Amino acid sequence: MSRPPRDFRLLEGTVIDHLPVGTAARALELLGLPRDGPITVGINVLSPRRGKKDIIRVEGLFLEKHELDRLALLGPDITVSIVHDGEVTEKTVLDVPERLIGILTCRNPTCVTNGESIQTVFLRLSGFPYRFQCAYCERVSGVGEVS
Ligand SMILES: [Zn+2]
Repeated sequence: MSRPPRDFRLLEGTVIDHLPVGTAARALELLGLPRDGPITVGINVLSPRRGKKDIIRVEGLFLEKHELDRLALLGPDITVSIVHDGEVTEKTVLDVPERLIGILTCRNPTCVTNGESIQTVFLRLSGFPYRFQCAYCERVSGVGEVS
């Protein structure tokens, strides 16, 4: 087997890897990308361990906690690597927290979080595919319905 190409080399920034196939565009949207820096996106990239994946490399971007929490919703086992001077200095496997605060929006039109400026709170009920329950109105939703 040939080695993967090294044409996406990143000097300073973030690699979002093991995105489920088909989620790269959604990930870019969630993160408000592109911004100023260069980005390379790989779609249907062969992964030696688990079939195909999407991957995004963003020069000059370091994600905040709330951005990581949103990204984690796209699938299990997404990894985020921080790169400095061309070397990975930190690698994290994303996990969806048990309580998501201010991340999701409740689709129940009569939910109190939609009428007032209250931060939403959702409890995660299951592993992937994730299901969430609004802590205010108790409505249960899949991730596509609330993010
Ligand atoms: Zn609600």
